[in-house]
Amino acid sequence: MKDEIQLRDHIDGRRDEFVDYFKNLVSQPSISARDEGVTECAEMLAGMLTELGATSRIMPTKGQPVVYGEVSSGDPDAFTLLCYGHYDVQPPEPLELWDSPPFEPEIRDGRLFGRGTGDNKGQLLAHAMAVSAWVETSGAPPINVKFVFEGEEESGSPNLGDFVAQNRELLAADLVLISDGTMHPSGAPLISLGNRGVIGITLRARGADRDNHSGNKGGVAPNPAWMLIHVLARTVDPSGRILVDGFYDHVRSVGDTDLQIISRLPFDPEEFGATMGLPRVDMSKEEYYRKIMLEPYFNISGLKSGYTGPGSKTIIPSEAEVRIDIRTVVDQSFDDLVPKLKRHVAEIDPRVEVLVRGIGGMEPSRTPADHPAIAPIAEAIERARGTAPYINLSSGGSLPNSVWPGVLGVPHVGIPYANADENNHSPNENMDLECFHMGIQTSARVFEALARARRAGTL
Ligand SMILES: [Zn+2]
Repeated sequence: MKDEIQLRDHIDGRRDEFVDYFKNLVSQPSISARDEGVTECAEMLAGMLTELGATSRIMPTKGQPVVYGEVSSGDPDAFTLLCYGHYDVQPPEPLELWDSPPFEPEIRDGRLFGRGTGDNKGQLLAHAMAVSAWVETSGAPPINVKFVFEGEEESGSPNLGDFVAQNRELLAADLVLISDGTMHPSGAPLISLGNRGVIGITLRARGADRDNHSGNKGGVAPNPAWMLIHVLARTVDPSGRILVDGFYDHVRSVGDTDLQIISRLPFDPEEFGATMGLPRVDMSKEEYYRKIMLEPYFNISGLKSGYTGPGSKTIIPSEAEVRIDIRTVVDQSFDDLVPKLKRHVAEIDPRVEVLVRGIGGMEPSRTPADHPAIAPIAEAIERARGTAPYINLSSGGSLPNSVWPGVLGVPHVGIPYANADENNHSPNENMDLECFHMGIQTSARVFEALARARRAGTL
């Protein structure tokens, strides 16, 4: 284990140097939303990758460029890890709420404050610095490492899918590693294996071409509010089960490994309830996590019809509308579910229109918990940090990760490095420098663990 200690000490010894890189990168604005400084930032980042021991190049897309880099282990059979991150940032406004200017990074209380610190510059740099530590101590990392750092994640990654599709050979890898988002609020490390998808739907019903008197026309004029209510009531039952024919066809069954992982997650009904403004969560831990991570959800986010102002207005409304977002789980897809939903609604009431909001929604993706890379990664994180990571089978929210399995055919794993209170997208965004430093240590150990698993033939 001499090597491990040597590597750790080497990274410890370069703390100040690494923080200087970090500050420089944050000081370069890169606001993709209004094309401010993004190209300059790409150039700066590519330069840093070269200095840290990788080859690098700036690759154009239809939008902002991708900074691509790679470093070879020198072994043709080595494991290849593709590290994805994004160097663009959210607009910093409102400026008056920042305690120091967003692009003049400042260290206070052991944290670096500035736009883009946690989301995502500090996290992507950690991978590059881990590579540098390996290069300096051993001549090369024990695995091949590729970097894809995109410049328009904060604008919805509109060109990432095309970029990956056009560069399949260049990007070929065994695993994609994504460090974005935050660790567990307790400070414990996390492994994130996936996310739900989302499909936005509007159901709209129309009756007469105007609102009608509910006395004079009640019973003869059609009421679109009732049309929608009947459709909705036959679409989801009171337990939340979705009644659309074939809706669950592709939902994976829950495995033993999944249940074991869930059993190790924290669960406090009162504390979890408080995060939603409820006195408590009225379900078991297993049910709670299954519902958030592994099951789809059909949500009504808004209902609109008729008159709800002061006093009363006795009308039959002419129109009713409901906004729906369907949270999907892995192997469900937009192309499969939308036609099924349209058929379902048409069978109940053909007068109700099904309108899709957004093109294609966002697809779910999830790496199976028993994928052979997960155990060595979890072990490496525990070695680096002294704390075992929680494994998040899937986050409830939606992310554009399906591009990795969907377009590149490679599974993905997330290991967030930022502190839970990083304030990303908000004023006073920051990254705890201990988190940054531990991120570098963690990446360095993860590279080693993947190399060892490859040598042992398990990966
Ligand atoms: Zn962000």
